[in-house]
Amino acid sequence: MASALVPASFSLAHPAARRPVNSTGPAAMLMLRRAGLATVCPPERSLGSDCLRAGADPRLAIHVALRCRSASSTGRGTRAAATMTKKSVGDLTAADLEGKRVLVRADLNVPLDDSQNITDDTRVRAAIPTIKHLISNGARVILTSHLELDYLVGAVSNPKRPFAAVIGGSKVSSKIGVIESLLEKCDILLLGGGMIFTFYKAQGHSIGSSLVEDDKLELATSLLRKAKEKGVSLMLPFDLVVADKFAPDASSQVVPASAIPDAWMGLDIGPDSISAFSSALETTQTVIWNGPMGVFEFDKFAVGTKAIAKKLAELSGKGVTTIVGGGDSIAAVEKVGVADSLSHISTGGGASLELLEGKELPGVAALDEA
Ligand code: ADP
Ligand code: MG
Repeated sequence: MASALVPASFSLAHPAARRPVNSTGPAAMLMLRRAGLATVCPPERSLGSDCLRAGADPRLAIHVALRCRSASSTGRGTRAAATMTKKSVGDLTAADLEGKRVLVRADLNVPLDDSQNITDDTRVRAAIPTIKHLISNGARVILTSHLELDYLVGAVSNPKRPFAAVIGGSKVSSKIGVIESLLEKCDILLLGGGMIFTFYKAQGHSIGSSLVEDDKLELATSLLRKAKEKGVSLMLPFDLVVADKFAPDASSQVVPASAIPDAWMGLDIGPDSISAFSSALETTQTVIWNGPMGVFEFDKFAVGTKAIAKKLAELSGKGVTTIVGGGDSIAAVEKVGVADSLSHISTGGGASLELLEGKELPGVAALDEA
């Protein structure tokens, strides 16, 4: 049998006041362009008086740091020390805002309980005056935050254990980074989808006409070895639903994973595997899932994927943290109708996987510096 239970002990809002401020302000203002951004340096303005002159809501706690490199009167080429002058959102009037779109970077990292209820909404409420000020002065507000990301990173870097990952999808090559990263973190790794045939073949089993990546056989072997070394329980399906062709109306049969008939292809995990995967998941406190268990686009081969989706929904109801990422996986949980029951659906798609891999996301990094 090709099954392998490898017992191896796995920041609101800084309204971009860097808006290109046309020199509508006092002539004393010094406008400089730096790094493609227009910045304004009001050298003699104090934050407090500005806020008051602008009639700023005193609750506007978010100030905008305007960085400027002051031009030196001592001659060209001399770089003066950078000065930091703070300006409030309240400084922006209707003349500045009318008809503009304002990107507001909000820190909405509110604390959540195990059921994802907000336990302290101070940060959300603190953002409201800023948003109201912008809207009431004619701006259209685009809010950006990163709660969605911290949650993911936190759940994976400091998970409630046992922590299981269910990884499927078409190819092992597209998930190498994720699997390697998860092998460092999770306790249980369940593999399904088209990638499993590369693992079976690497173990010397025949796989019929199933999807396989022949150039990844060594990789599969090394991942199995790594799981053992790390003490991760890596489980491959015991049985499979095989088809005589890649089509929704293909003939199908359930076979042991070690006995795939020639010319037949595995398109789903079998009933025994569904039971085994479900039992393993029942022992967990955190589950992340990426990649369908089979060709779920064809109803006949969507059984394994649907079963995992339902199991995660059931576990969520028992307080287990359940996270699903990946376009097709999200489509699958939507199709089954359990998306709302899960702890977190990561709409970041590939980006959420990169986060799981520990990669820095350029867009997020840029926002962190804003
Ligand atoms: P996600 O978008 O959730 O990250 P992937 O894009 O990696 O998922 O994989 C989804 C695709 O994997 C689906 O199109 C599905 O049909 C395919 N797939 C799953 N199991 C198999 C299989 N046994 N053989 C061929 N393709 C499969
Ligand atoms: Mg996909």
